[in-house]
Amino acid sequence: VRSIAILTSGGDAPGMNPAIRGVVRAALHQGIEVFGINRGYSGLISDDMAPMSSSSVSNIVQRGGTILKSDRCEAFKKPDVRASAAEILRARGIDALVVIGGDGSLTGAHLLQQETGIEVIGLPGTIDNDIFGTDDTIGFDTAVNTALEAIDRIRDTASSHERHFLVEVMGRASGFIAIHVGMAAGAEMILVPERAIEIERISEELAAARRAGTGSSGIIVVAEGPEPGLTYRLAQQLKEHGQDPRVCILGHIQRGGSPTGHDRVLATCMGAMAVSYLGAGYSDIMVGVRDGQILDVPLEDIIRFRKGLDPTLLELALQVHR
Ligand code: ATP
Repeated sequence: VRSIAILTSGGDAPGMNPAIRGVVRAALHQGIEVFGINRGYSGLISDDMAPMSSSSVSNIVQRGGTILKSDRCEAFKKPDVRASAAEILRARGIDALVVIGGDGSLTGAHLLQQETGIEVIGLPGTIDNDIFGTDDTIGFDTAVNTALEAIDRIRDTASSHERHFLVEVMGRASGFIAIHVGMAAGAEMILVPERAIEIERISEELAAARRAGTGSSGIIVVAEGPEPGLTYRLAQQLKEHGQDPRVCILGHIQRGGSPTGHDRVLATCMGAMAVSYLGAGYSDIMVGVRDGQILDVPLEDIIRFRKGLDPTLLELALQVHR
C-alpha cells in the first residue's frame, strides 16, 4: 500500500478526530501517503480531497465532530456511482480507503470493495454502539457521559418541583445508550426498544411510589426508538393515566463535545490498527474490539447480523431500575 484515503460518514461521533489522527500519523510513519476526503461519500464522488500531513492533524485529538466533515450521500447507494468513485481513487493512485462511520457507511464501504476491488477498512464511528462484532464504538462513551451530565442537572429540577421527567436519549433501534446512561444516572426507570413498554405498569408504579412517600420525583430514561416522537406519546399516555411527567429530549447535545479519554484511546488504537491491517494485506474488514482486544471483523458480518443488547446487562439493569 503506497497511498490511502480517509473519510468520515453518517452521524458524527466524538472521537472521529482522534481516529483520523491515528490513521494519518500511523500511515505517514510507515511512508504511506494519506488523502483526506471532505464530507464523506459526497466528497469522494466529487473528488474533493487533499493530501494530509502530520501537522494537519495537530491539536484535534480533543475536538468533537470531524475535521473532515460528514454527510449522508444517497447517490452512493447506486452501483454506477460507486464505480465512478473507484475511478476517482485509481486516477489519484490511491490503493485503499479507510471509512469511519456507522453501519450504513460501512455497508457502502463493503459494496465498494466487492464491486470495484478498492481495498477498504472500516472503523466503527457512532455514538449508538449498535454495530455487530465490536463491544464498543468510537463516541459511545462520550455520548453516555454527556447525557449523564445533563440528567444530573435535570434531577435537581425534578427533585425541587417534585416531578417525574421522561428524558429521551439517542440510540435509534438500540437501547445501549439508554441502559448505560440510566444505570449511571440512577434512573428510576429505563425504557428500551428491546422490552415492551407497559404504560399501566409504569403509571401504577409511579403512583405507588408517590403514595409511599418514596417517589415524588424521578428520572425515566427513554431510548428514542426507531420512530420519532415516542417520548411525547408516552407522556401523553401517562397523562391519561393521571400522571404529569415533563419531557426532555437530549437530542444532538449527545453527539457533540470533547471525546472522553476512553474514546480518544480507542479511536487512536483503532486508527493505527487500520493502517497495520492494510499493511498486512487485510481488506473488507472493520477494526473492532472484543474483551479488550482489537480484532478484525468481516464487513459482511456487520451487514448480515444485528447487535443485540447483552441480555445479562438488560436483566441486571431491570432488577435495579424497573
Ligand atoms: P449513524 O447510524 O451513526 O448515523 P451510518 O453510517 O449508519 O451512521 P447512514 O445514514 O445509515 O449512517 O449512512 C451514511 C451514508 O453511508 C449514507 O448516506 C450513504 O452514503 C452510505 N450508505 C448507507 N447505506 C448504504 C448502502 N446500503 N449502500 C451504499 N451506501 C450506503
